Amino acid sequence: MTENYDITIVGGGPAGMFAAFYAGMHNAKTQVVESLAELGGQINALYPEKTILDVAGLPAVKGRDLVAAQQEQLKQFPLTIKTGAAVTNITPNEAGFTVTTAKETSQTRAVIIAVGNGAFTPRKLNVAGADAFTGKQLFYSARDLETFRDQNVMVAGGGDAAIDQALMLEPVAKSVTLLHRRAQFRGLAHMVDLLNASTVNVKTPYLIRDLQAAGDQLDVILKPVGADAEPVHQIVDKLVVSYGFTADHHALDAWDVDLAEDHRLIAVDSTMATNVDGIYAIGDGVMYPGKQPLIATGYGEAPVAVQAIMSKFFPDRRGPVHSTSLTTKQ
Ligand SMILES: Cc1cc2nc3c(=O)[nH]c(=O)nc-3n(C[C@H](O)[C@H](O)[C@H](O)COP(=O)(O)OP(=O)(O)OC[C@H]3O[C@@H](n4cnc5c(N)ncnc54)[C@H](O)[C@@H]3O)c2cc1C
Repeated sequence: MTENYDITIVGGGPAGMFAAFYAGMHNAKTQVVESLAELGGQINALYPEKTILDVAGLPAVKGRDLVAAQQEQLKQFPLTIKTGAAVTNITPNEAGFTVTTAKETSQTRAVIIAVGNGAFTPRKLNVAGADAFTGKQLFYSARDLETFRDQNVMVAGGGDAAIDQALMLEPVAKSVTLLHRRAQFRGLAHMVDLLNASTVNVKTPYLIRDLQAAGDQLDVILKPVGADAEPVHQIVDKLVVSYGFTADHHALDAWDVDLAEDHRLIAVDSTMATNVDGIYAIGDGVMYPGKQPLIATGYGEAPVAVQAIMSKFFPDRRGPVHSTSLTTKQ
């Protein structure tokens, strides 16, 4: 039997999770459909150990703890959370939309798209034979810090994510070397200041030319960039390559609805409505003048979208926007 929902939220990152909470406060029958095995979006998948500094009211919160807190917040309402289920199509019909995943179809009155940059995968190290080391000495994210405890670790990359990973590893690893092919880092000035104040050994400008097994360790063969010098060898226990991510937003291209997109970002108005009546979009995957791709921004957009949906499609259920008047919980 096809399930019927008031609101379907596609994507269970921080924006989608907060939209689900807000929909719960409005007593909307809501499902969250997330393609990854766990909720939490980029925070959970890419930087669970990072200390996030720019979420209001939380001066410093670990990514993992922020996601756990959001999950706890969701427990207050009888929401349906479907993980490991990518939405492969949204089809308009008289009652709203049919939502299709590989496992099932369901029916919904309105949709909130919160897919971030789409399904993301790390940019791989382009060195022959690298795959053989993946998961043993070579990683694309320092997700579980315990793997790196008391190890000599090299992090490769020059952006915020690479600096983040190096700083995250510093307190647990025996040593951390940050390798970049340019002399300057692309990261935010604040991050570079933190890096300069840390014990991370910065090695620039070098490129990884080859990897060789060295017992249980890894011999990383480095080529100095722009210099006619001999390659150098550095033996490490673990190598974390942080060259950024490629995002696949193509899933939306296959949907039956034609959303106004530019560079894979969905255009929305000030109520987070897309060009398709009944479909709203929030979080990193949307675009409007002044948009900032931040957790806090997605948190702000979520109530706007939910409120707009409730006003338009469920005016009889429209309530005041303050949480204390929507729930009896103190
Ligand atoms: C290394 C790094 C550090 C960062 N640090 C900060 C920081 O300190 N502060 C800050 O504010 N922001 C930071 N950000 C940005 C922040 O993570 C994003 O702004 C935020 O995650 C966006 O949330 P979202 O819910 O819009 O999207 P996402 O977190 O990308 O979540 C989208 C979810 O949708 C799912 N999805 C995609 N397609 C489908 C589909 N077809 N069906 C079902 N599910 C789908 C994805 O699997 C994903 O879980 C950082 C980002 C990175 C990469």
